[in-house]
Amino acid sequence: MKITVLSGKGGTGKTTVATNLAWLLSKHLKVQLLDADVEEPDTHLFFPIHFSYEEPVEILKPVVNNSKCINCGKCVNACQFGAMISFSGGVYVFDSLCKGCGVCKMVCPTDAIKELPKAIGKIKLGDITDSLKYGMGIMNLGELSGVEVIRQLKKHIDEDAEVVIIDAPPGNSCPVVESLRGMDFAILVTEPTPFGLSDLRMALEIVKEMGIPSAIIVNRYDVGFDGIEKFSKQTDIPILCRIPFNKKIASLYSEGRLFVKDLPEWSAVFNDTLNRIMVSVK
Ligand code: SF4
Ligand code: SF4
Repeated sequence: MKITVLSGKGGTGKTTVATNLAWLLSKHLKVQLLDADVEEPDTHLFFPIHFSYEEPVEILKPVVNNSKCINCGKCVNACQFGAMISFSGGVYVFDSLCKGCGVCKMVCPTDAIKELPKAIGKIKLGDITDSLKYGMGIMNLGELSGVEVIRQLKKHIDEDAEVVIIDAPPGNSCPVVESLRGMDFAILVTEPTPFGLSDLRMALEIVKEMGIPSAIIVNRYDVGFDGIEKFSKQTDIPILCRIPFNKKIASLYSEGRLFVKDLPEWSAVFNDTLNRIMVSVK
């Protein structure tokens, strides 16, 4: 069972759900938690982790040999990301805009472009307990897209794990799509506000488009806005559980502690959550 936990924006409780769910399920099952929020991974703050492996994430970036360049402009025209500009002396590549797609090299008629590997981040793997494995992707500062880091992180999905939980990046863009690709289920974490509802709509569009079954977890459900409940009924996307606005939960989170450890009544709630997910995936 491979589950991605996502939300349309940061601060809705996505990490709270991913970490608490992973830890609780690991009491009975082999679980792997992967942090794909590669710009700002923070799930590691909730656990003592023994890291045992690290590898770089590299992509190939073009380097132009201007002595071979005939200034035909084919590479500049072919680059979809505006990462190249031609000038009288040849072609210049804007490294921060380049996605390493390789198209410029393919179209160059004089073989003036070669590709060199460039590190854009790293992957770290480790163990939290015997039954809870951990992995995180970290994107280097200044890089614009975490897609490649997430793709490489997902190559380390542990096929022996009974449940894999991916903490997705916030938002609705390409890194979120990458964190959902090939997954069995999506948990959409939201909060009961008009903004929360708007983000939830967009997140649901993505998972529907990708054909991934999903359900909602409402964080701070008791603030008074009933739009999420109505949306759930209209779309037939069930609400798996409702986490209240609770000072104890908030203060445990701010101390980097898992609330399920101090509030054991949540064991039953999250176990029920997983059972409901399993039923809807079958
Ligand atoms: S590798 Fe792709 S993104 Fe980078 S400069 Fe070449 S065409 Fe543009
Ligand atoms: S395609 Fe090759 S020859 Fe043409 S402008 Fe680009 S680098 Fe120069």
